[in-house]
Amino acid sequence: MSTHIRSRRESWGTIFYDNTLDEFSAEVHPGCTPTPESPIGVGWLVTAPCNLKCIHCYGNVEDLPSERLTTAQQLKVADEVIRAGVMRQILSGGEPLMRRDTLQVIDKLTDHGVATILGTNGTFLSSQAMKSVRRCTRVEISLDSMDERVNNEIRPSRNVKGNTYQETLRAISLCQDAGVSLRILTCLNRYNHQEVSALAQFLYERGIRDWAVSWTLSAGRAHHIYGELMPEDTTQVENVVEQLRLKYPDMQIRLSDRTVNYSRYYCLIWPNGTLGTEEILTGKKLFFSSLVTGSMRDGWTPENYDLDAHFRKWIAGRVRTVEQPLELRSRVA
Ligand code: SF4
Repeated sequence: MSTHIRSRRESWGTIFYDNTLDEFSAEVHPGCTPTPESPIGVGWLVTAPCNLKCIHCYGNVEDLPSERLTTAQQLKVADEVIRAGVMRQILSGGEPLMRRDTLQVIDKLTDHGVATILGTNGTFLSSQAMKSVRRCTRVEISLDSMDERVNNEIRPSRNVKGNTYQETLRAISLCQDAGVSLRILTCLNRYNHQEVSALAQFLYERGIRDWAVSWTLSAGRAHHIYGELMPEDTTQVENVVEQLRLKYPDMQIRLSDRTVNYSRYYCLIWPNGTLGTEEILTGKKLFFSSLVTGSMRDGWTPENYDLDAHFRKWIAGRVRTVEQPLELRSRVA
């Protein structure tokens, strides 16, 4: 993947996105507060149904609206994403590839320069789909254990003949053969957190160099069994990951602790085309404004979102203070 840095000008400075590092940064003018004028990164649950029934699923079909948008409506939502200047768009679900028109959405977003990340369980990936899928900045596939039984207990298939583990490995190979930039996601809980080292070795030997590990978030299906899912001690994994980073220096290993104590920082589009978010503290899904009939800016307000936390989540500490260009200063004056 060639390096591409996108930028978005704001009244207070500029936001940058580096697709190779998958990282945002910002330049802020002195004395300005960097409040994003529209979302920086958005998660779009393009459909609710899924052929798996993972025990922790955040985009759990039973809590999502059942309304199904037409292809024309999906493309209208994509238009709003483009118009709002969203820089990093994740397409997930449910299983996004259960809708064939997700490939059209990918084509449209990438045609307009939106860095598009496909979050899929991989079971519907095919060589035909790769024509569009390979245009994504990155494909994220979940693998929660290299022990087939454990993985399939965490990520069971709704199909009695399904074998999530084997189908996931097939999808990984397909992406690698197509030269897709691939990231493996692992969601830790009390059943698999002891396996971090074994998973790292397994992935490394398969040629994977981008791995994101996170503790289960109290959202979606996990919210209802959170106490049961989480081990008492989560500190050991941090030390193990530090050692793994030394052992595999050419592998990017991210460990995010998403057991956050704030809410409403993540911008979501629900499967009915509504802009919203999820209250992490209560597990409540919130619905603000329709992108089928309105625009993204209608719902992007300080009443609906914690805009500062949204900025902090994406930009982290990568902020520089720079003087405003002279021509802009005189225009403002
Ligand atoms: S594959 Fe993803 S959307 Fe499907 S059940 Fe699992 S976590 Fe949920």
